[in-house]
Amino acid sequence: MKDLTQHMRDVQHFGEQGGVVPVVDVSATSTFMNPADMEKAFRGELQGCYLYSRHSNPTVKAFGEKLAAMEEMEAGLGVASGMAAIYSTIRQLMPDGGHLVSARTVYGGTYALFLSILPKIGIEVTFVDTGDLKAVAAAVNERTKIVYCETMSNPLLRIADLQALSAIAKQHGAKLVVDNTFTPLIVTPARFGADVVIHSCTKYISGSSDLMAGAIVGSQDFINQLVDVNQGVVMLTGPVMDAQIAHKLYTRLDHLGARMIAHGKSADYLAGKLVEHGIPLVYPGLRSHPDRELILRMFANKYGAGGMMAVDCKTSERALALAHLLQQEKFGLYAVSLGFSRTLMSCPSVSTSSEIPEEARSQMGLSQGILRLSIGYLGDDEVLANKFLQSYAKVCG
Ligand code: PLP
Repeated sequence: MKDLTQHMRDVQHFGEQGGVVPVVDVSATSTFMNPADMEKAFRGELQGCYLYSRHSNPTVKAFGEKLAAMEEMEAGLGVASGMAAIYSTIRQLMPDGGHLVSARTVYGGTYALFLSILPKIGIEVTFVDTGDLKAVAAAVNERTKIVYCETMSNPLLRIADLQALSAIAKQHGAKLVVDNTFTPLIVTPARFGADVVIHSCTKYISGSSDLMAGAIVGSQDFINQLVDVNQGVVMLTGPVMDAQIAHKLYTRLDHLGARMIAHGKSADYLAGKLVEHGIPLVYPGLRSHPDRELILRMFANKYGAGGMMAVDCKTSERALALAHLLQQEKFGLYAVSLGFSRTLMSCPSVSTSSEIPEEARSQMGLSQGILRLSIGYLGDDEVLANKFLQSYAKVCG
C-alpha cells in the first residue's frame, strides 16, 4: 500500500514564479471576466470557480486537496475549528433532522453538542458503546442518517472498529462519520469504510498550538454540497478557514509524518517505563491495550501508536496534584488540547469531559482520576520519564 506521505507529495501547488509552496491568496473576492459566469455561479451551475472566499479560496482549496490526498479521499475543506467541522457535517447530512447514533465516548464538546444542541434542531441522538456492535446494530433504525465515532476515543483511547461500524451504517443507508483528530496518518478511516472524516486541525495537523482550525474530508460531491451557494452549510453559516491559516497548515502537513513518529517514540518510551513501575495506564502501543487486535489491523506501522496516554490516578485530587507537580518539574504544561511539541496534561473529569453527565461518564468507564497526557517530542525522553516517575511516587506512591 502506498505511503500516505507519498500521496501528499504527489500534490504540488506552485507559487507564482515557480515558488515551491503556493502563495497565500488573501483576496476576499474574485473577478469574473465574463459577467454571465457570475450569474451561473450563483445558480450553482458553475463548479470549481472562485467567487467569494466564504465559498472558495485558492489557498484553502490547496490545503483541502493535500489533506484529502493524505486521507485517501476525493476532497477536503478547511473550516474554522474542529467543532465547526463536526456541526457543519451533521447539518449538511441531516438538513431535515432525523436520528444520529454516536459513540458514547467522544470529546466532551462533541458530547455536549449532541446532548444539548442537536435535539433542539430536530436531531435525536442515541449514545452507545461502539465496542458493543450488537448494541450499535440495535440502536440504528430507518431514521438513522449518521453513525458517529472517533477513531481513538477521547480521553479513554479506545479504538473503534470502523469496518464493522461502516457495515452497520451502510445496511441502513446511514453514513459513517469519523473524527480522526488523534490519529492522523496512523489510521486512514477511508480504508475501513468511513464516508466523512473530520479533523480538529488545532491539534496534530497544526502541531504548534498557535491556531484554531478544522477540516472535513469526503467525496467531491459532499464537499461541493457544503459550499453550495444555495444549500451549503459552510457557505451559508460561514465558519470558513482563513487563507493565512490554510497556508500554515498546508506547509505543516509536510512534517506531520515526522512529528507523529516523534510523538509515538517518546510516548512509547514513557509508557514502557510506567509499565515497568506498575503504574496503571492506557496507551495504544502497549500489548495490554483492550483493543490490541483492532490496533494491529488498523494502524499503519510506520507512524507508531500516537502521542496520547491516560494514567489512572484514581481520584481527581491526585490527578490534579500530580499534574501540578509535573508542571513545576517542567515535565509538561497543564493545558487542554493535544498534538503540541511539548507535553500537555489535563484531567478530563474536571475539564474537557466535564460536559458529559456523571452517569454517562461512569457508563463509559471514565474514572475521576484519569490524567490525560499528550506526549510531546521536545526534550530528553529519559530525563522526562524520571521526572514523571519521581513525581508519581510523591503524589500517588
Ligand atoms: N474532536 C476532538 C477529538 C477533539 O479533541 C476536539 C477538541 O479538543 C475537537 C474535536 C474540537 O476541535 P476544536 O477545538 O478545533 O474546535
